[in-house]
Amino acid sequence: MLRETHNGIPLLRFASLATLPDLVHAVTTRAGGVSAGAFAALNLGQTCGDDPTAVERNLELVREALGFKRLAWPRQVHGAEILAVNGSHSGMLAEADGVATDQPGVGLLIKQADCQAIVLAAPEKGVVANLHAGWRGNLLGMARRGVEFLQKRYGVAPHRIQAAISPSLGPCCSEFINWRAEFPPEMAAYQVAPNHFDLWRVSVDQLIQAGVDPERIEVSGICTKCGQEFFSYRRQGTTGRFGTVAGWR
Ligand SMILES: [Zn+2]
Repeated sequence: MLRETHNGIPLLRFASLATLPDLVHAVTTRAGGVSAGAFAALNLGQTCGDDPTAVERNLELVREALGFKRLAWPRQVHGAEILAVNGSHSGMLAEADGVATDQPGVGLLIKQADCQAIVLAAPEKGVVANLHAGWRGNLLGMARRGVEFLQKRYGVAPHRIQAAISPSLGPCCSEFINWRAEFPPEMAAYQVAPNHFDLWRVSVDQLIQAGVDPERIEVSGICTKCGQEFFSYRRQGTTGRFGTVAGWR
């Protein structure tokens, strides 16, 4: 990924998405915000125990750094609903785990601490989606559902989509002690060690099955638990949320 700093906030960008002239996108890290303690410093999560005033300031810092008029995010519930965001939506929306828009000026935000954000951009249609997928979202087919949503709602051709999977839990750390009870048999294809699974490849395969060109899928390949750069629920327990934002200039 590409690394930049905007207004003192370190941001990561996908090399593939950075070539799309009107798309503004970034993945935030823990650095650059005003939160303290376990939430230091750029916590974007409002329901993890941090000071709400600090979180509001952090969200505003991210909005300013990216130049969006407003940010909009779903109330994430590890489900598979996707919302269409129109010209007036702002702030926290209804319960859902995906957001999509064909409107400029709004940054679609997914909040994370090990889960994947999956950005789907269809520049010819001016459409972008941002999806939240933890392992539950993986099992619900979130990546596939995102492509289908863009197809049905906006007439996007899947093979024209540019897709990107954010920093999240890598195969190195995707340990599931109860996988026999929690996972369906088809997950065996993604087992990389006795209790470890490659959830990145689950999303990649769903995108390909939905018609996305494999050459148009970028996987960040950065594991959130391994390093210290991102908030990680698996590493820290009590922790904040970083975010992936995408929208049209
Ligand atoms: Zn790892």
